[in-house]
Amino acid sequence: MFIPKRIIFEKGSLDYEIGQNVYNFFKDNKNVEKIMLKSNKVKQNIPNSDDLRKFYKEGKRTLVVGVKKGLKFQSCKPSAHYQLPLYSGCMGQCQYCYLNTNLGDKPYAKINSNIDDILNQAQKYIDEGLPDITIFEGSATSDPLPMEPYSGSLKKAIEFFAQNPNGRFRFVSKFDDVETLLDIKHDGKTEVRFTLNTDRVIREYENATASIDLRLEACKKIANACYPLGFIIAPVFLYNNYKEDYKKLLLSLREKLPENMINPPSFEVISHRYTTRAKNVIMEVFPENTLPMDNEQRKYKYGQFGYGKYIYNKDELADMKEFFQKEISEIFPESEVKYII
Ligand code: SF4
Repeated sequence: MFIPKRIIFEKGSLDYEIGQNVYNFFKDNKNVEKIMLKSNKVKQNIPNSDDLRKFYKEGKRTLVVGVKKGLKFQSCKPSAHYQLPLYSGCMGQCQYCYLNTNLGDKPYAKINSNIDDILNQAQKYIDEGLPDITIFEGSATSDPLPMEPYSGSLKKAIEFFAQNPNGRFRFVSKFDDVETLLDIKHDGKTEVRFTLNTDRVIREYENATASIDLRLEACKKIANACYPLGFIIAPVFLYNNYKEDYKKLLLSLREKLPENMINPPSFEVISHRYTTRAKNVIMEVFPENTLPMDNEQRKYKYGQFGYGKYIYNKDELADMKEFFQKEISEIFPESEVKYII
């Protein structure tokens, strides 16, 4: 669970149930500073706003409770139709995180307290899409689980989708705070995915996230609560002996999951890649990072919008794909492998 150093309540956020939930949870905790904003100038209330590295560090220890104003949802192709803007930002400090590049000036986590407005807007999109099903993604710009025990936003969204025949919800996490989601009505309309990696990768690059043991325990609980379940194995790093470690990971996962799951799990496997822009931000925020980002060792793949990526070379990727395809289909014969890239 994310226990911030400071919580900044934007004007109006305490008028909503979610804002109240957060306030009540922390009101007696003297170690957590509470700042009530009269204007919505968040940045000025986080120390070191003129030094990216220090600001990043303080930002990651800050929680903002706000009110979502514009209610036009961003699209979220190809995995969903729309982003569901319950949260943004994340307390995790994964060295390679895409949020460093896209939300670099807002390193803090934020909860939007006016969830009824957000769900009403989701309903409008669902109605517009009838008779088709409309899918919403809850983690496009955030990892929502570490704030869930005190905000209750996911719970409310899951219950909303449970009674909605034409709406579906999905989110993904590297955390394990699932307790409040286990005994609620989801009706199979929410797909919970976990991003998994080897112990070595988590320890080296995924600072301030849940350990693999905690994540696997959370997978087990979500599987037993009969949610549709998916796994993203990413980013895969092709270090010496990587196959041994990833096989061990798949076997540990198998041990945790119940036999004959009602919803067979899905897998998405993504090898490590980076853009020049991401590399520059990472080098500034984590100058001592040990990420393998030597351009000479990679193949440059041109992207659709001029954002080319450095990926592993062709032979390495072919070998990796063969490995995962074989191991996943042997260890989880009932599963669906969506893609390995
Ligand atoms: Fe980024 Fe996800 Fe890590 Fe959070 S958990 S820092 S969103 S990669």
